[in-house]
Amino acid sequence: MKILYLVIPCYNEEEVLPITKEALKKKMEDLIENKLISKESKVMFINDGSKDKTWELIEKYNDEDKLFTGVKLSRNKGHQKALLAGLMTAKKYADIVISMDADLQDDINVIDKMLEENNKGNEIVYGVRSSRKKDSWFKKTTAEGFYKLMKIMGVEVVFNHADCRLMSKKVLEELEKFNEVNLFLRGIVPLIGFNSSIVTYERDERKAGTSKYPLKKMLSFAWDGITSFSVKPLKMITALGFLTVFISIIMIIYTLVVKILGSTVDGWAFIMVSIWFIGGVQLISIGLIGEYIGKIYNETKHRPRYIIEKELK
Ligand code: UDP
Ligand code: MG
Repeated sequence: MKILYLVIPCYNEEEVLPITKEALKKKMEDLIENKLISKESKVMFINDGSKDKTWELIEKYNDEDKLFTGVKLSRNKGHQKALLAGLMTAKKYADIVISMDADLQDDINVIDKMLEENNKGNEIVYGVRSSRKKDSWFKKTTAEGFYKLMKIMGVEVVFNHADCRLMSKKVLEELEKFNEVNLFLRGIVPLIGFNSSIVTYERDERKAGTSKYPLKKMLSFAWDGITSFSVKPLKMITALGFLTVFISIIMIIYTLVVKILGSTVDGWAFIMVSIWFIGGVQLISIGLIGEYIGKIYNETKHRPRYIIEKELK
């Protein structure tokens, strides 16, 4: 039987943690009783530098019941880094790890479905939100817009999949080789490959407490996602440069016509043409430099260039 670790990042979650703990305790005990997972399975809470009683609660749960364990980060590092810290710690003890949020917005019954998919040989199982009936209009629009934008920018992400996913030890070992500092796990995991599948669930409301992702954090998360996965914004400068040069040609013709017709002041044609043409040339040049920066940027990531799934003996 496989050892399962649930990895739960927590930032100022004292309000919801008692509810989450009870729900997960029941779930894990059921799974253990039904022999779906090993007795050594655990729930691991990652305290991401909370300013409230979150860590005290985690310590208390661990005292009461060894089903619960915890990791404390030295300070607030943000959801993605807290998650990575948890995954890398859990990897040492677990055969499979499922990550989910502390607020029970991800339906915990998805764990059963994920285990089933894993038993079919899937090393990664993505939890996908089937609909967002309970999300506010604003959250739904911004979140779905984000997934669409990522696609336009050429970043491969699973639509409506956040960070609720199952990964096997093998996958986590490969994930460890991605050395990036600007962590965007949703983009990295699909790059790892291996057999994977999707399970869907209904995203619920937060059980207690308030969102720890205000608009500012959401925007910076989206920005990180694009700029650490795509050099398209740099390439767009080159495109803009060519467009400007093209417009400058039209401007040259236009100014010549106006000049010939004679209704201009002296020097006007010269300035008009120069502005457009030089503007275009400058943008192309910046774009060209951008192309090289893009290459440097990709090189400095030192991402693994390939991942071997199996070796025949
Ligand atoms: N979180 C974290 N560090 C942060 C912000 C959030 O570990 O700096 C955790 C938080 O405790 C929760 C998860 O990330 O378990 C998702 O946050 P939240 O539910 O507030 O986001 P939302 O669902 O509103 O997008
Ligand atoms: Mg939430």
